[in-house]
Amino acid sequence: MILRKWNYKAHEYEPFEVPDDWNCKTYCTDMSEIVNCPHCGARLLFGNSFTSLEVHTATGMGYGICGKCHEAEVKRNLEAMHE
Ligand SMILES: [Zn+2]
Repeated sequence: MILRKWNYKAHEYEPFEVPDDWNCKTYCTDMSEIVNCPHCGARLLFGNSFTSLEVHTATGMGYGICGKCHEAEVKRNLEAMHE
């Protein structure tokens, strides 16, 4: 499965491949569905996921990611803003 990940340096999306058996979602009707974080593959409840700042669908919807990767994304995002 190929997702899209924002590249701060190039200012464009780059292909971001995740294993086909990972359940990566931007939206769930069931908050207790188990999803995979597209960065690290961690399994978590969709209701506990954060919206990705980097990994998006073609229409710009952010995938649900884990707390640890969310922190790393926020850090990269802030660094990119101060460059
Ligand atoms: Zn993660």
